[in-house]
Amino acid sequence: MLPPGSTIGIIGGGQLGRMAALAAAQLGYLVHIFSPEKDGPASQVSAVSTVADYSDQAAIEAFARSVDVVTFEFENIPAESVRLMASHVPVRPCWSVLEVAQDRIAEKRFFNSIGIKTAPWREVTSLESLRAALAEIGRPAVLKTARLGYDGKGQAKIGPETDPAQAWSALGDGLAAAGVGVLEGFINFLGEISVIVARGTDGSWAAFDPVWNVHKDHILDTTTSPAPISDELAQEAMDIAHRAAEALGVVGLLAVEMFVTPTGLLVNEMAPRPHNSGHWTMDACVTDQFEQFIRAVCGLPLGLPDRHSDAVMKNLIGDDVTQWRDILSDPTAKLHLYGKAEARPGRKMGHVNRIRPRADRT
Ligand code: AMP
Repeated sequence: MLPPGSTIGIIGGGQLGRMAALAAAQLGYLVHIFSPEKDGPASQVSAVSTVADYSDQAAIEAFARSVDVVTFEFENIPAESVRLMASHVPVRPCWSVLEVAQDRIAEKRFFNSIGIKTAPWREVTSLESLRAALAEIGRPAVLKTARLGYDGKGQAKIGPETDPAQAWSALGDGLAAAGVGVLEGFINFLGEISVIVARGTDGSWAAFDPVWNVHKDHILDTTTSPAPISDELAQEAMDIAHRAAEALGVVGLLAVEMFVTPTGLLVNEMAPRPHNSGHWTMDACVTDQFEQFIRAVCGLPLGLPDRHSDAVMKNLIGDDVTQWRDILSDPTAKLHLYGKAEARPGRKMGHVNRIRPRADRT
């Protein structure tokens, strides 16, 4: 157990790191951010920052020597860097968790291996193998880079008329950088949900309620809690997240995104860190995802994840952030801004939580 006053090293300098650093400060910890970006959202609120590339071994080593534990708000960092850090300091979650999360194919293999369903998928390594995979999976389908894709980047939908060569070249550079791609059957889902589960160093765990996520232009737009699904389905979703965290031996958080289909749940992807779909917990739960993350990573007892209010979280993307005045004129709206100077299109600038008493308790 790491006592308050210790220093938590966080890899990544974005808004997830910022909100984790604020939660760490509340519990009396210091935070050291490692990020290639100077003065990013996380560095603005942290005691110390190292600005260097994730593959800069000298900087990684110096960072690891200066902190008491390392965790991540961004998981795509080189294996050698994680190994080097782990030789100096506890790294939570450990490399084997990140390794699975970095690669969509490893991720799907993992879920399938523990009996959890995903969309049908095939690994593709060439245009020929894409054609063969399409013949098996059928259309429509989605071609994704196996690595480094997020918010719909590195994805191409293949409809009834799409020339596979076109989809292949659309992702050309991405596929080359990622090594391989994955072809998934397109799921006509009823909706998308996610569950965030925390797991402590002692194997204790706590899951937040499943939430309902709506995406716009492939970027999360709103999260609604509770998700409008049956208690049985909610239980099943929490069970999936817990089984995955247990099988991987996660220490920290695991967010699992799932499609709700008429025949049950299919896992889409996972992230071993705080997640955008957990931002509602900041104003609607006894313990929010960032505090829970810090507790888990520092070996503290987990807090109660119970939802005391219903909530809708809305992301403020790009120019949406100019509405801050209007948002604040509603005294019940809880505004969270990330300190980013430039509101580029598609950039997550902040979010607003709107909470109300639980409908099932009024
Ligand atoms: P991802 O980067 O895998 O999270 O994909 C971003 C979004 O694209 C998802 O949240 C879905 O809305 C959509 N999407 C991804 N994969 C599929 C699929 N196989 N079928 C239907 N929609 C998908």
